Amino acid sequence: MAPILQRHDMAMSAIAAYDGGMRDIETILVLTGAGISAESGLATFRGPDGLWEGHRVEEICTPQALARNPALVQNFYDMRRAALARVVPNAAHHALARLDAEWPGELLIVTQNVDDLHERAGARRMLHMHGELKSALCRECGGRVRWEGTLADGPACPLCGGKGGLRPDIVFFGEMPYQMERIEEALAGADLFVSIGTSGAVYPAAGFVQTARYHGAQTLELNLDPSAGSHFFHESRVGPAGLLVPEWVGDMLGDRVTDAG
Ligand code: NAD
Ligand code: ZN
Repeated sequence: MAPILQRHDMAMSAIAAYDGGMRDIETILVLTGAGISAESGLATFRGPDGLWEGHRVEEICTPQALARNPALVQNFYDMRRAALARVVPNAAHHALARLDAEWPGELLIVTQNVDDLHERAGARRMLHMHGELKSALCRECGGRVRWEGTLADGPACPLCGGKGGLRPDIVFFGEMPYQMERIEEALAGADLFVSIGTSGAVYPAAGFVQTARYHGAQTLELNLDPSAGSHFFHESRVGPAGLLVPEWVGDMLGDRVTDAG
């Protein structure tokens, strides 16, 4: 009879099977995009009409747009922030939170999303490279503060008292994403890079797969459609994140270990 494996040993044997035994996987880097939140009811960046909630991306996601039409941009993000109260994490967010809780090796979940669904599902080893709806950035003192309410009405900054300087703490086109150094380090050290629900159209995130591969990682894509960068991945699985992510996490954690002996 085969010895009874501990959960973590089971996970490791499942991993060895996944990558064909080329390299044991201990360090996982997961990149998520708007597609992982689609089944929770949040619109992706470029819907079928090429618009995000009825707007052209250049109208709302650039520093120039904020300077030109602050009311439009602030109202847009106030609505996105308010919408978070009406949605809940889906099976894909829960599965990644489970991976975070149970994966014995290193893990980092880098999300391009500005919603809070990963953390509400319970994920901890994660970062928001494009900022967060529930954070405000002060243009006067440079501080970042947790924010639940609206910004269009020009509230005072709780840190410096400056009035009207608060903007959404969102990385607009042309601005530097957060924590790039930490991400670059994680890309260089990852044994497995997994991209979930992202179109591969927004840089620098779109280039992560090539960096991870260059450093020797296995690469896997989980997306509803083949993305612009699908050919860069060792493997692409096509389907909804709510199905594919729990399945993949289950495999990583040894749910489907078959008795080899
Ligand atoms: P994107 O809209 O460009 O691409 C989304 C991808 O997800 C597409 O390839 C689509 O085929 C796929 N997808 C759609 N439904 C899916 C599902 N159910 N399961 C799996 N995949 C699915 O989004 P992006 O690549 O993340 O880049 C856009 C930028 O938009 C990001 O920087 C992000 O900050 C911002 N954004 C965030 C949110 C959010 O926080 N929820 C929503 C919209 C846009
Ligand atoms: Zn301030």
